Amino acid sequence: MHDVIVIGGGHNGLTSAAYLARAGLKVLVLERRHVVGGAAVTEEVFPGFKFSVCSYVVSLLRPEIIRELDLAGHGLEILPLDGTFTPMPDGDSLWRTSDHHQTRREIARHSPLDAEAYDEYGKVMVEMGRFVKPTLAMTPPDPTSLAPRGLLDLFVLGRRFRALGSHDQASLVQLMTMSAADLLDQWFETDVLKATMAASGIIGTFLGVRSPGTAYVLLHHYMGEIDGAFRSWGLARGGTGAISNAIASAAQAAGAEIRVGAPVSHVRIEHGAATGVVLENGDELPARTVASSADPRATFFGLVGERHLPDEFADDIRRYRFRGSSGKVNLALDALPDFRSKPGAGPHLRGAISISPSVAYMERAYDEAKYGRYSRRPYVDIVIPSLTDPSVAPPGKHVMSCFVQYAPYHLAEGSWDDCREAFADTVVDTIAEHAPNIRDVIRHRQVVTPLDLEREFGLSEGNIFQGELTLEQLFFLRPAPGWARYRTPIRRLYLCGSGAHPGGGIMGAPGRNAAGEMLKEFRR
Ligand SMILES: Cc1cc2nc3c(=O)[nH]c(=O)nc-3n(C[C@H](O)[C@H](O)[C@H](O)COP(=O)(O)OP(=O)(O)OC[C@H]3O[C@@H](n4cnc5c(N)ncnc54)[C@H](O)[C@@H]3O)c2cc1C
Repeated sequence: MHDVIVIGGGHNGLTSAAYLARAGLKVLVLERRHVVGGAAVTEEVFPGFKFSVCSYVVSLLRPEIIRELDLAGHGLEILPLDGTFTPMPDGDSLWRTSDHHQTRREIARHSPLDAEAYDEYGKVMVEMGRFVKPTLAMTPPDPTSLAPRGLLDLFVLGRRFRALGSHDQASLVQLMTMSAADLLDQWFETDVLKATMAASGIIGTFLGVRSPGTAYVLLHHYMGEIDGAFRSWGLARGGTGAISNAIASAAQAAGAEIRVGAPVSHVRIEHGAATGVVLENGDELPARTVASSADPRATFFGLVGERHLPDEFADDIRRYRFRGSSGKVNLALDALPDFRSKPGAGPHLRGAISISPSVAYMERAYDEAKYGRYSRRPYVDIVIPSLTDPSVAPPGKHVMSCFVQYAPYHLAEGSWDDCREAFADTVVDTIAEHAPNIRDVIRHRQVVTPLDLEREFGLSEGNIFQGELTLEQLFFLRPAPGWARYRTPIRRLYLCGSGAHPGGGIMGAPGRNAAGEMLKEFRR
């Protein structure tokens, strides 16, 4: 009998498994697909071209996990991804890099006032990040409980809030409630700068840059760090699957067993407690504890079954919102794109390339999604990892990852299977407006629609974060009020994926925090 069976070999399930195995428990990970990684996976979709099929950049991965699991020793190498280049339709562009002076000059070219404000804005966001960041590694307190531990956690949070000072307190409340565009309007006047910065406020949500609540998502993405440096994004050598593989290797080295091609049909429940799982092939595997890294809907309505759940909890999970809004187009290229606004293969192609020319463009893209259409001119976040890590493409060739928003899961007309190629054409046409040679250099393309994310990766409604990162679904409300401490109404069944606090992104925090809660129970 296993001590713990972990359902799902995404990076969070693997992280849980690694910590549990290191504590001496007998752990088994069961992954439905033929490969571990979930949404953090590298696959050679076309010979020689290795795509980070879903997630493509890393920043939020917790430094304590990198350290404690010795991920570098297990082969993880993060390469810096420097800069964000935003081409504009009038032939101009905005190119921000980690070179402070270069970026300042570049912003000043658009607005000297914004160049002044940029540093100050960065400092305020770092302060806000410092306040929120420790909550990532904690089990959220339950404000409705009088348990001493929870009250202490609430007290500590309250004390830290008071210590912020009135100016930062106000900034934090604004960040929690405002739209990304309104927040940025308070700081800057350059449209293209605001549009590009606001983009990280909408990722993984079904909201527009002008929707309240998006300022917090902006902060969530701001908090990433590599080796302690705020706001730096990087690429894993070998693609994001290399992160999952390093965590899997750490788990196996600690004694965990990992099986792929092992879909779980349901959790075995006796007298309100999980006692193991049943695989789709009928095999029954007993366990003292079960941890699911599948999303809350898949876990509770798919693997558990509503009849085992209290009515109020089932209602909360039904209300938990997914509303996938993103797709991906991965391109295999014979040559690099050539941007009209900055011709040639310069260093501007080595960072992110953001198709976000104005706030109105971004909001218009959302307008279409609201009425069930994919954006005719979407926001596209492009990365060409082969420029930094040549191992992912044949010599002289390139891979280009295009993250696209909006691609609403629920279409007003037709199905995603009918319009997947038209959707990809729209993305290519959008890029071609800025880099006209793109159509001639595409050798292969992989189109990932929100329906594919659900069918292939098990993400309900194609939500990239296993549920929207909106305030009403965060911290002690994720995934449901009273159930944010990784435990569930089924005894000995835990949630350990990004449907639990602190949510999505290649972070590992839900997996690590959940393992901590399980270990407390085992020690008891
Ligand atoms: C298109 C896209 C782009 C993204 N871009 C980024 C990015 O650039 N940077 C970033 O930080 N984050 C990004 N994300 C988000 C990030 O990838 C996810 O939040 C994260 O990988 C989720 O990890 P997880 O382990 O919690 O869940 P998942 O990766 O969803 O893993 C869950 C696993 O459970 C398995 N499973 C489900 N049901 C069963 C079952 N019944 N039996 C067995 N196994 C099962 C699934 O196959 C899957 O492997 C992106 C996500 C997507 C989809």
